[in-house]
Amino acid sequence: MTLPDLNLDALIDFLTRLLNTPSPTGFTENAIALCEAELADISGVRLSRTRKGALVGVLPGESDEGWRAMTAHVDTLGAMVKEIKSNGRLKMSKLGGFAWNSVEGEGVTVFTQEGETVRGSILLTKASVHVHGQDMSKTERKDEVMEIRLDARTTSAQETQDLGISVGDFVAFDPRVEVTNGFVRSRHLDDKACVACMLFTVKALVKAGLKPKKTAVLHVSNYEEVGHGAAAGIPPEVTELLAVDMAAVGEGQTSDEFHATLCVKDSGGPYHFGLNQRMRKLAEQHDIPYKVDIYPYYGSDGEALWRAGRDVAVSLIGPGVDASHNYERTHTEALLATVRWCLAYLLE
Ligand SMILES: [Zn+2]
Repeated sequence: MTLPDLNLDALIDFLTRLLNTPSPTGFTENAIALCEAELADISGVRLSRTRKGALVGVLPGESDEGWRAMTAHVDTLGAMVKEIKSNGRLKMSKLGGFAWNSVEGEGVTVFTQEGETVRGSILLTKASVHVHGQDMSKTERKDEVMEIRLDARTTSAQETQDLGISVGDFVAFDPRVEVTNGFVRSRHLDDKACVACMLFTVKALVKAGLKPKKTAVLHVSNYEEVGHGAAAGIPPEVTELLAVDMAAVGEGQTSDEFHATLCVKDSGGPYHFGLNQRMRKLAEQHDIPYKVDIYPYYGSDGEALWRAGRDVAVSLIGPGVDASHNYERTHTEALLATVRWCLAYLLE
């Protein structure tokens, strides 16, 4: 059996729009709405939202026994305003796991309670070399020495409050999306690349006039980066979950930017042996470029579901992403491999 064709240009166009839609964990409504709009014109997909704000799509299959689910997350790293400092600048509290040096100098948007946005950038509190000398290269980057310099006239806490900013406001980092020679370079490819792959899997399937073998659930998760995204929202009929999330590329890893990876173990232990075997077989059958890997510092929404007590088989696949939770990069070949693998899984 040959797999349906993917419209790769449309996938990249959607992915770029999704990357440019800020969605730090806890503030994902706009990104979820974008996914909802993208799925709305696919005939046969029943859409709903969970109370927690995730998007769930159900696509009826040839059989209604033993539903299969796929999950990918739109929430990303980011920050919240922790404190308005006496000099008018902002202290932050991290959302998700990252190192401050990976966002130092990055442009940010602060979202006020009134729905306004204020631009700024992340800097060391002692940022100028001409004032503080070379010592800044030795400064350990931690919460206390990082701040947001707002692009607004403020030198006091009061002036910043007058801009509408308050403690708890969400902060999004600029993704800086660029597509060159098939490479997609951007922040937050984890896991928006996989959200795009998941949505375009279903689009390709429906466009080809096909049905999944078993009723399929698409779960667009919105709390993965803090560990409990898919703990809710997977319907009780589901017996298998394919978590679709980035593969960790780097020294000692088999994963790369041109393959999709089956992760057999991460920080939460091994995934489901039987489902893993099937995924390997499907990749071989369909000539999907794939790797098998172990991720040393990693958790997924598959584990979130297991920890929530659900009795389902779980596997984890996804495209190789270089410099994850930093300024990330992948390649269209890895995205294509991921979509083809998802298609093979749903049609098996
Ligand atoms: Zn992820």
